[in-house]
Amino acid sequence: MSDRLPGFSTLAVHAGAQPDPTTGARATPIYQTTSFVFNDADHAASLFGLQAFGNIYTRIGNPTNAVLEERVAALEGGTAALAVASGHAAQVVVLQQLLQPGDEFIAARKLYGGSINQFSHAFKSFGWNVVWADPDDVASFERAVTPRTKAIFIESIANPAGSITDIEAISTVARKAGVPLIVDNTLASPYLIRPIDHGADIVVHSLTKFLGGHGNSLGGIIVDAGTFDWSTGGKYPMLSEPRPEYHGIRLQETFGNFAFAIACRVLGLRDLGPALSPFNAFMILTGIETLPLRMQKHCDNAKAVAEFLAGHSAVSAVNYAGLATDKYNQLARKYAPKGAGAVFTFSLKGGYDAGVNLVSKLQLFSHLANVGDTRSLVIHPASTTHSQLDDAAKIKSGAGPDVVRLSIGIEDKEDLIADLEQALSA
Ligand SMILES: *Cc1c(COP(=O)(O)O)cnc(C)c1O
Repeated sequence: MSDRLPGFSTLAVHAGAQPDPTTGARATPIYQTTSFVFNDADHAASLFGLQAFGNIYTRIGNPTNAVLEERVAALEGGTAALAVASGHAAQVVVLQQLLQPGDEFIAARKLYGGSINQFSHAFKSFGWNVVWADPDDVASFERAVTPRTKAIFIESIANPAGSITDIEAISTVARKAGVPLIVDNTLASPYLIRPIDHGADIVVHSLTKFLGGHGNSLGGIIVDAGTFDWSTGGKYPMLSEPRPEYHGIRLQETFGNFAFAIACRVLGLRDLGPALSPFNAFMILTGIETLPLRMQKHCDNAKAVAEFLAGHSAVSAVNYAGLATDKYNQLARKYAPKGAGAVFTFSLKGGYDAGVNLVSKLQLFSHLANVGDTRSLVIHPASTTHSQLDDAAKIKSGAGPDVVRLSIGIEDKEDLIADLEQALSA
């Protein structure tokens, strides 16, 4: 091999994987086992004491999952990663390392509907208080900072309208406040945006979406950028203080620039338990091999569909950052020059009823609550994912009554446009 650094597509196929040393298997095997035999008593003791790396029990780590972790860390440009059972599990595990009861975190108001629920209700019951800010108004993040603020959470490409967040501007606010910036990069995938290059300290994903890419396996992942100093001011005791469960070691002192990923594994995953099945890790790894090809096709199709909708008489507005006229187009050119993603919304002149009607008339598009599948998907957020919000909150989060959300797949774009055409004129 030459000493050139491998490119993104090469990493998507190879990072973290090598032929199986005992069998020669070229694809990563599914290590479908709960536990691993120790060499001897000393080896067991050193694994349990975090003096050696190795496999103990699949709730804490598994060799198939380890390949997935190494691959996503490489694609995102992080120091280490931890795979978990779902995107939501990733969010719980991350914040559990950062917040004590009574602490706060600031979150962008435009988020996946499930994250709005998780932050507003489940996290509140843990004593973690979310403070909402407007991702289009960076100063609103600055104003929300208090001495109890422990993190800022944003989406790179935000649900449901596919708006683009100014990651660098918000990372400046986080830096000034002395807290890490967490970026949910699910809708972009590292093919379109690498948040660590723009100042993110932690990246989370729902692997369920574009990374897995085939709508068949749930998963989540946490990527540690290795950029944050956890020792300052005693703000992050999980990382800076001696851990009684591990003979008093301090994680930052011992593990340096991948201490956060270690904390998520040995404190978060070990104790909360949302482990990823090795079978799902295998499915998601297989999906990632074609991520660059799929993501480009998703984006190219999405742009063609958005242009078609923008010219249709039943449509009052299209929110797709890839359109030159869109208010996020400047940010899209800066952060996602290869394409503005494949999830976006549009508004119908006929309002709520027209939205419900369109969803029922589409044939090729599947009506369901997911994004990032090979198949094209449609949902009417006001009557489904965002129905729990009142009207004002729906509009604020981009899910007003007349809004329809699409996730464009990798079919032939002419077929997608023909399906929309017949449903809009029905
Ligand atoms: C789906 C999704 C999640 C939650 O992920 P799960 O795998 O469903 O738990 C979080 N953030 C975004 C942007 C998502 O699309």
